[in-house]
Amino acid sequence: MSLIVEGLKKYGVSEEFAKGLTATPGSTVPTLLLAGGYSVNEYFKKTGISAKEIVSNANHLIKSQVDIHYRFKVELLSCLVDLNIISESFGAKLYYEKEVLPMPNKPAINSLSDVDELEIPDPKKDGRMPVILDCAKLYREKYSKKGFIYSGVIEGPLTAASNVVGIENLMRGMKKSPTLVHKLMKKVSEVCIEFGNAQIENGLDSVGIAEPTASSTVISPEFFKEFCVPYLKRINLKLNTMGIFIHICGYTQPIIEQWIKIPKTLIISVDDVDLKETFKSIGKKFIILAGNVSTTSLLRGTPQEVEDITKNCLSEVGENGKYIASPACDLAPGTPEKNIITFINTCKKYGKFPINL
Ligand SMILES: [Zn+2]
Repeated sequence: MSLIVEGLKKYGVSEEFAKGLTATPGSTVPTLLLAGGYSVNEYFKKTGISAKEIVSNANHLIKSQVDIHYRFKVELLSCLVDLNIISESFGAKLYYEKEVLPMPNKPAINSLSDVDELEIPDPKKDGRMPVILDCAKLYREKYSKKGFIYSGVIEGPLTAASNVVGIENLMRGMKKSPTLVHKLMKKVSEVCIEFGNAQIENGLDSVGIAEPTASSTVISPEFFKEFCVPYLKRINLKLNTMGIFIHICGYTQPIIEQWIKIPKTLIISVDDVDLKETFKSIGKKFIILAGNVSTTSLLRGTPQEVEDITKNCLSEVGENGKYIASPACDLAPGTPEKNIITFINTCKKYGKFPINL
């Protein structure tokens, strides 16, 4: 296990964090907050600067994320902004909101038959990709070695594609014109690779993929296999980082087996799975499972409920390790601070290996 600890430390994580991942006796389960949208909303409440301005300005954006590190003392941060960066750079239009992250408004093309018209955007020039690249640069200049490691995020290829052509068109296309869907997926994947590598080149420690559209809540496991896995494979292999964090929301139990076989997958971030069964699927592979702490409970539950659901996750982890306690998805804006603190403190109090609850 010490080899794995050394390998993990190369990413910049502390020894304590690495030991927690390998369930070294005396160490504690590491925690992670997925807090892109929450951070932007908190920064708006603190400064009055609109969410639109925050997500379009690297200085504000990185500050909004770093604030969360200082406030809750989490050492792993991800610059998860909104999942429209790539589609917007292809020409999709968004609703920009004052208090929360923007939402898709109008796709870049109205039909899959227009896929040939799409020009491949340049991460250095198009949409808000340059803002995200500047965040990476600011991180390198100002915050690296400040006690946390920072991972960039790209939207997964299926998620980006669904916003480029509209989700209904994409779903229909999977049945009626699969060749055009593959054409779109290829184009989008190239941008995922270029954009991810540009973030790493600019100074981020790593880059992760957020791919909610791949969830079995949205598409069948068969469509996941046909339209998503080949592209995630290609992207993972081409990203210049040792291991990739992939987040898929919603129901994912039926795709776990396919998911963990995608090369270079290091962390699978899940919404709601059977932890024991998922650890069984992972077996001896060094793949870390993150998530499962309900964001709805974090938003609406009492601290006692938050403590209970967190303890429940920890008890299922048991001696296994390879677990990061984390919200199931991006924390909802307005999640009460006391619930976030309860979640973190519960992990510290009950997450010490060997866990015995
Ligand atoms: Zn999610």
